[in-house]
Amino acid sequence: MPNRRFEPGREFSESLDAADELRAFRTRFAIPDPQLIYLDGNSLGRPTRDVANRLRLAAEDEWARDLIRGWNAGWFRAPSRLGESIARLVGAGPGQVLVTDSTSVNLFKLTLAALALRPERTVIVSDALNFPSDLYVLQGCLELLGRRHHLALAPSPNGITVEDDDLLSHVDHRTALVCLSHVAFKSGFLYDAASVTRRAHEAGALALWDLSHSVGVVPIELDRWEVDFAVGCTYKYLNGGPGAPAFLYVRRELQEKAFSPIWGWFGQRNPFAFELEYTPGPGVERFLAGTPPILSLLALETALEVAIEAGIEPIRRKSIALTDYLIDLVDTVLEPVGFTLASPRETKRRGSHITLRHPEGYRISRALATEMGVLGDFREPDNLRLGLSPLYTTFGELWDAVDRIRRCVDEARYLRYPAERLPVT
Ligand SMILES: *Cc1c(COP(=O)(O)O)cnc(C)c1O
Repeated sequence: MPNRRFEPGREFSESLDAADELRAFRTRFAIPDPQLIYLDGNSLGRPTRDVANRLRLAAEDEWARDLIRGWNAGWFRAPSRLGESIARLVGAGPGQVLVTDSTSVNLFKLTLAALALRPERTVIVSDALNFPSDLYVLQGCLELLGRRHHLALAPSPNGITVEDDDLLSHVDHRTALVCLSHVAFKSGFLYDAASVTRRAHEAGALALWDLSHSVGVVPIELDRWEVDFAVGCTYKYLNGGPGAPAFLYVRRELQEKAFSPIWGWFGQRNPFAFELEYTPGPGVERFLAGTPPILSLLALETALEVAIEAGIEPIRRKSIALTDYLIDLVDTVLEPVGFTLASPRETKRRGSHITLRHPEGYRISRALATEMGVLGDFREPDNLRLGLSPLYTTFGELWDAVDRIRRCVDEARYLRYPAERLPVT
């Protein structure tokens, strides 16, 4: 049913923008082509205006002038300093978050750490909506451990949601770890992470959450939810830039018992003592491995300031308003031309992207990107994914994007494009 809170027409979308409490934040981003409607901030966020300047300073002042002294002037502490900024977005007290490595690598480190804490248990529970890289990392861990463990995937018959019962029926006395994406990358389904974590603990299992698609758009309370481990990406809603380093969280009580499988010098107790034996660092820092990517960390640091200044509650409010509005437009404008909604309708079950299915989804996404100025992305087999980034996406853009998508189908513009996939969709 269309949501009657919304009226049709571009003017109405402009009235939503006028009332938007975050509207000033769009000016903090570099937007060289305002005609291009960017709906892929959940894959790669836009750069802030400050980032180019920060990178120039990092190269010209810090690197060129400070040279090796830069490490003591702030670079060495960057992974934990940025960790404390991320901590504010994920509800973590101090000393539990680091920014380092990629999400996949952090997941590998924390999965092996978790399995070692439950040596007698042999099952990892995840779901069929999880990001493939996460499932590959889990499979790789099982292979490495000699196939003693088993990966149990809760099904998603509709490809959109996972029912609590379907997930929890896999969680029992054999479960070592429940490892899930907080928000599913394809449908945008949002778990009740507090409740799943509690159920995992009741069965004696540990809980590891991948926050890649929720951090920066969904309120997260890792400490309060008593989450054991978490990882997440910073180049999506946190706008850290392509390949920006990821973060990891290890609950304080586990830090002295948990070990990284990569014993690098940055995780050693005293890297510059150059001792021949590895002794793990005192806290979460033992999960560092090698030299961190300083230029990327500094770029991310300026981007984080913007998200923290905006505040997660206003961001979530706007994210809900954007997704509600887009769903209403899908129902009223796009359903008649063959699209169906492939994201949860229930607000508390959805992150900040909306997915539409259309049999010609791939060719439509090509036409939109090539000639209609709408950049979303495509996920197999027929999903057009539209990411709404509350710091810079406007309601007017959603109206225009939906109008262009409708025209693309009405005028059969997608017919001019081949169905063969480009390497990156
Ligand atoms: C984006 C994303 C990743 C990215 O992993 P990389 O190691 O940075 O390539 C991992 N997991 C999930 C759930 C994601 O959404």
